[in-house]
Amino acid sequence: MKVFKFGGASVKDAPALENMLQILQKHADSNQMVIVISAMGKTTNALEKLFNQYWEQEDYLTTLENIQEYHVDIVTKLFIDDKDSIFSLLDNLFIELKQQLNRISPQTVSYDEAYDQIISFGEIISTQLISNYLQQSEFDCTWVDARNIVYTDAQWRDTKIDWDITQQQMTKEVEPIIAKKPVITQGFIGGTTGKKTTTLGREGSDFTAAIFAYCLQAESVTIWKDVEGILNGDPKIVPNAQKYAYLSYWEAAEMTQYGAKVIHPKTIIPLMQKQIPLYVRSFVHPLRTGTCIGKTQVEKMIPAIIFKENQTLVKLEVKGAHFMTNPRFIEILQGLENQHIEAHFVHKSAVGCEICISGRPHRTQKFVDTFQTQYDISFTPGVQLLTIKNYDQASIQSSIQGWEVLLEERNGHIYQAVVKQ
Ligand code: ASP
Ligand code: MG
Repeated sequence: MKVFKFGGASVKDAPALENMLQILQKHADSNQMVIVISAMGKTTNALEKLFNQYWEQEDYLTTLENIQEYHVDIVTKLFIDDKDSIFSLLDNLFIELKQQLNRISPQTVSYDEAYDQIISFGEIISTQLISNYLQQSEFDCTWVDARNIVYTDAQWRDTKIDWDITQQQMTKEVEPIIAKKPVITQGFIGGTTGKKTTTLGREGSDFTAAIFAYCLQAESVTIWKDVEGILNGDPKIVPNAQKYAYLSYWEAAEMTQYGAKVIHPKTIIPLMQKQIPLYVRSFVHPLRTGTCIGKTQVEKMIPAIIFKENQTLVKLEVKGAHFMTNPRFIEILQGLENQHIEAHFVHKSAVGCEICISGRPHRTQKFVDTFQTQYDISFTPGVQLLTIKNYDQASIQSSIQGWEVLLEERNGHIYQAVVKQ
């Protein structure tokens, strides 16, 4: 059994979907398969905009219409016969989305919980449309609602998987279907035992693919992307970026931890535990091999250059005649944890500390409220965290060129710097 995952770019318009169908037809043969799909194109971003406008009581109707028109356009180009039924399916999905929005009242529900109820529509819409398209194209498959398979806690927006119930559901609900037909399901979304929709964190569809592979003992996972595989740097920033033909699970996992965007950070560990190979391949050049991630360690890896964007450097200085003691430092880290803020880089001095975090206004404010009586807190937004794994002098020189380096550290084979343009 194989798991295939198609991200937003691979299902962004009618030609992309035709290409996806060809890839599926080529690989379907006798293999059992689970197909995990993201929202189409940039739909998740558009839904975030819609949700924020609704939440802030701004006019959201234009955004909603744009999302609907985008999908209508794809359907118009893609479906040959029986357009009526697919259009009425689409209409109903958008009616449901509107009803769901109208049910949200900021007085009775948290931002994060409400967010998940709306943002998840991207995947529901895409898989409904694609499942119908595949059926029309004589690629027989069964649509499965991931909310009834992937069970999570109610942390919203960044939920933790309940592996026991998820495993039970996979065995009970999914296994009997894949014995007969390919399964098509949504990435990124899950559900609670209370029947509420949750999400696994932005770009979480890769993780969904790993969850299905883990529970169903898949022989491999393939993530189809618009890049050739995993490169040693973002080609927009790192000139002459090179593709890794092979990476070990651990190398790949570490790269994603530092912010390499090509796969979601949570994807690798479940696959590593069951030693399921992960292929990252190009849907533009589906005959090329891409990158294979597996269990063998490689000796010498070319430096991986990773810029983590959209970071804020938070500086806390102890007020009055006090030092930054361990108990204080622990309290600060606990304060971040309480707001689910991850510290990506921490530098402690005698009188304070500097912490690099991802910009998330709603959560940062609560952290500031807790600590501002004891600390002078200042922010440097718009910084990036540069990590070079297996660095050498040349890779540092070429990477920091043109940047102002605010903080810098070398640790084993890792070089890190907080940089600003
Ligand atoms: N559609 C979701 C997102 O854009 C999940 C994913 O693409 O993996 O974040
Ligand atoms: Mg995406």
